[in-house]
Amino acid sequence: MTEDRVYNFSAGPSILPEPVLQRARAELMNYRGTGMSVMEMSHRSAAFSEIFAETKEKFRKLMRVPGSHEILFLQGGATLQFAAIPMNLMEGGTADYAITGNFSGKAAKEAEKYGTVNIAFSTESCGHSRIPAQEELRLTPDAKYFYYCANNTIYGTEWQYVPESGSPLVCDMSSDILSRPVDVGKFGLIYAGAQKNLAPAGLTVVIVDKSLAGRELPYTPQIMSYETMIRHDSLLNTPPCWCIYMLSLMLDWVQEQGGAAGMEQLKKARAQLVYDCLDDSRLFHAHAEKGSRSDMNVTFRTGDAALDAEFIAFAAARGLANLKGHKLAGGMRASLYNAMPIEGAEALVRTIKEFERNHV
Ligand SMILES: *Cc1c(COP(=O)(O)O)cnc(C)c1O
Repeated sequence: MTEDRVYNFSAGPSILPEPVLQRARAELMNYRGTGMSVMEMSHRSAAFSEIFAETKEKFRKLMRVPGSHEILFLQGGATLQFAAIPMNLMEGGTADYAITGNFSGKAAKEAEKYGTVNIAFSTESCGHSRIPAQEELRLTPDAKYFYYCANNTIYGTEWQYVPESGSPLVCDMSSDILSRPVDVGKFGLIYAGAQKNLAPAGLTVVIVDKSLAGRELPYTPQIMSYETMIRHDSLLNTPPCWCIYMLSLMLDWVQEQGGAAGMEQLKKARAQLVYDCLDDSRLFHAHAEKGSRSDMNVTFRTGDAALDAEFIAFAAARGLANLKGHKLAGGMRASLYNAMPIEGAEALVRTIKEFERNHV
């Protein structure tokens, strides 16, 4: 890591790999002889058209997206998809939602405006500290889709399996996309706000089974219609050009790290270091139950809010930034996204141990 940078554990927008930032800097003033930055380019220019097509192709390869599915580069964040999904896929019918955290709860609430939401399971009563087992899901026969959030960013739990639902699977992968291989063909729709694992904020990636498009409610805005966006290859209007370019650099970096499988190895290694340390600790404990723990967002606490605050300041003074937990969950949260080097997890473990030595 460069001297003057910190280990940034922010939950989002988040850390990007240094080689990605360095490449962006090198190409910032003059992108490959065009005499301009990608930020200044027309989205219809030859140079940008090439960036766009290449980025899509790299993403398709790395995620192994089958030809049945289209990749869309959209705006509006993950939150816009909370509405776009029911507007496009619900057809005024019933959809099943698993509520395992704040964002899936918000998505279900939004969907209620467009049809009937069946709560297939909610982990609210246990403070979202676990993920339900397949047998616990109460599914609707002939549901329009089953919705879940693969990684619960705020409370730090992650689905360790892909649920079986009998209806198209719709998944929010905002906080764990491209952190492990995924069988995309099993899903009707996968989406992710890019700002955690892929790129700067402003881009939302949607992977949609083309056979599900074209059923949107009649008043669906054009910009939210999957069918329209597929037809225009995401270029109905100006796309987030700079973010798409940054995604392209990020995808090259992921490829160099061994692709999705390489990311999974790294993700397991980082998380295990931190969880092992917490499980050994006499001062700190992890929030999520074993078997449901997130490799991407490790939530932990001492049980004493003042001591938590002291630890956060102690870590910040040692170059470990943004360890404060979300206000809904309290305590600490270490976001260990794709770009977090193993050294960041090692530094966190050293810091936890040092703090503990001073306090017990
Ligand atoms: C951050 C996050 C969101 C919200 O993303 P926005 O792009 O800010 O709308 C939704 N779902 C998950 C899982 C997230 O981590």
